[in-house]
Amino acid sequence: MSRIAFIGLGHMGGPMALNLLKAGHQLTVFDLLPAAVKTAVDAGATAAPSAQDAVKGADAVVSMLPASKHVEGLYLGESGLLNHIAAGTLVLECSTIAPESARKVAQAAKDKGVRMIDAPVSGGTGGAVAGTLTFIVGGQEADLDAARPYLEKMGKNIFHAGEAGAGQVAKICNNMLLGILMAGTSEALALGVANGLDPKVLSDIIAKSSGRNWATELYNPWPGVMEQAPASKHYAGGFGVDLMLKDLGLAAESALNARASVPLGELARNLYSLHSAQGNGALDFSSILNLYKK
Ligand code: NAD
Repeated sequence: MSRIAFIGLGHMGGPMALNLLKAGHQLTVFDLLPAAVKTAVDAGATAAPSAQDAVKGADAVVSMLPASKHVEGLYLGESGLLNHIAAGTLVLECSTIAPESARKVAQAAKDKGVRMIDAPVSGGTGGAVAGTLTFIVGGQEADLDAARPYLEKMGKNIFHAGEAGAGQVAKICNNMLLGILMAGTSEALALGVANGLDPKVLSDIIAKSSGRNWATELYNPWPGVMEQAPASKHYAGGFGVDLMLKDLGLAAESALNARASVPLGELARNLYSLHSAQGNGALDFSSILNLYKK
């Protein structure tokens, strides 16, 4: 049993923390939102008054925040956690952020003798609840090995993508594809329905045909087709439009840096940007369907 500090208890961090608690670890938690903290405390965690307090005496630190600026704000600078975490402590940074940002924080951690891996996840809120996430790790092999006992309680698949920041690069590629395929799936379903098909029947056909993908199998964007999908819950919860927009922005930045071409990624970014500008930023990203629906 370890003492773990867990920072960021949102749609993903909340259930991930619960799985560490279930595994018998002792958790001290912090989030800016009291409601998120309450759920973890009700399940047996201890609330800390600040992130700095949460990491005192921790064997490991896990963070799950929205974007690069939150992660840099948490770890760097005078009040940053790297000035409060003891040397030798293991940090599992699970947010999806810019690879440069992950490298910058990892280098600052190394300078302080703190062992940090970037470990962004795939698998959605369903995977976070079920403990079946995929972890895509960047960092030293030995640090990943030390993190495995914790990662295995929250996920099913663990990949080592390479050095610090490599986990983020792989995650960004995956999410660019996810953004494209959710828009494509929405487009195909809307086309079928506009031509008189039942969305459930069409989804069943696609799920067993060459157009099958994660959206048609597990996360259908059409309301009522899959009871557990955010689409059937008025697009509440899940993975926010603005988070997808952030990831497509990271893909565009990575493409510029590497002089790579991502025409479909850019098109998808513009679709989510339009959808967000129409007031849908907080909805689940599968609500992109509404751009196509008559
Ligand atoms: P979320 O907005 O639900 O949760 C983020 C939490 O971080 C919030 O509770 C917020 O209050 C807290 N927070 C922000 N700044 C903080 C700070 N300085 N100190 C403490 N807490 C702070 O987001 P989420 O959906 O849980 O996503 C988290 C990360 O995981 C993002 O980088 C996202 O891209 C990634 N991700 C999300 C999903 C998904 O399906 N939601 C899937 C894979 C990856």
